[in-house]
Amino acid sequence: MILLKKTVILGSTGSIGRQSLDVINNLSQEWEVVALTANTSIDLLEEQAIEYKPEYVVIMDDKLALDLQKRLQGKCEVLKGLKGLEDVVSLQGIDLVINGLVGAAGLKPSIAAIKAGNRLGLANKESMVIGGEIINKLLASTGQEIYPVDSEHNAIFQILSSHRDQEIKKILLTASGGPFLNYSRDELQDVSVKEALAHPKWNMGKKISIDSATMMNKGLEVIEAHWLFNTPYDKIDVVVHPESIIHSLIEFIDNSMVAEMGVSDMRLPIQSAFTYPEKKNAQVEELDLFSLEKLTFYKPDVEKFIALKLAYQAGKMGGSYPVVLNAANEVAVDSFLKEKIKFNEITRVIELLLEDHKGESKLSVDDILAIDQQTRKKTREVLDKCC
Ligand code: MN
Repeated sequence: MILLKKTVILGSTGSIGRQSLDVINNLSQEWEVVALTANTSIDLLEEQAIEYKPEYVVIMDDKLALDLQKRLQGKCEVLKGLKGLEDVVSLQGIDLVINGLVGAAGLKPSIAAIKAGNRLGLANKESMVIGGEIINKLLASTGQEIYPVDSEHNAIFQILSSHRDQEIKKILLTASGGPFLNYSRDELQDVSVKEALAHPKWNMGKKISIDSATMMNKGLEVIEAHWLFNTPYDKIDVVVHPESIIHSLIEFIDNSMVAEMGVSDMRLPIQSAFTYPEKKNAQVEELDLFSLEKLTFYKPDVEKFIALKLAYQAGKMGGSYPVVLNAANEVAVDSFLKEKIKFNEITRVIELLLEDHKGESKLSVDDILAIDQQTRKKTREVLDKCC
């Protein structure tokens, strides 16, 4: 009998989670799913549980957990809430935990997986944005490594695997520029939710699609790269590359550059997390170089997409600033998705919250989550008053 490798997928009903299961279908002779988790999508979670037969499923909501328990009676164990997430990522002998959760909610499960010694495939960039310092200390003390699933960081990770830190001159994170790349700041004012969700290149969840439209996604990724690769902010540049064929680049000290290329399909970085350090056949389409008309590169316009500027500032100031940046962004994006505020107000409110914040440093996980909660509350108050 072949011993299957074991995986836990956090956020299995979301975009990263569903694509992870698709990758597992491709690698089905090698992997078994031990746990699947969802926020509120109970129907899809039930379907997935019946198809993949995990030992555990976790749902965040108490009432839904009762319902799910009835539905899956005798099939698998139903756990609930953050405790449930921490329990399943801490199970013994897990070969890969995919963290596909959205937002700051991903931090504690990331930490629990590392503490349990389970390899973490990280798609939840907010874990690093708000908890990078703590996570890096934990990695250093346990000798572990995170496998980045975010496509840009995945590209960098792959390029760097054969080089030492001193050889790196710059990390160049590519950005598609999102659906509003060529809009003026004025034109941005009245864009609809539907327009903002229509990402030209990548198939992603709602929150990250809005983040891409404001370019906050790239801002968060700059902070994520800072911590993942221990690289100072002045050595991380953003390059707008609308074709999204190059997933990121490294410039070395000899002025050579190495790029990682492929079609824009998240199953590529996801599968690489499952097969690392090997590469295996994938369902991902071949990149046909001859069908590409051209590859273009632009400097980002940080006066138009101020999210990028705010993220660099918050990242450089460090401590609690990235926590405030992220929490204010999560609340503002949610309000925009509910059509309560206009597009440009997302970044305006983040700017206000950052200006108002008195930084704190040497934060514990509980400190971080307390600042996260305070900022959410404050952001809602500001939005209620102004918008
Ligand atoms: Mn990305």
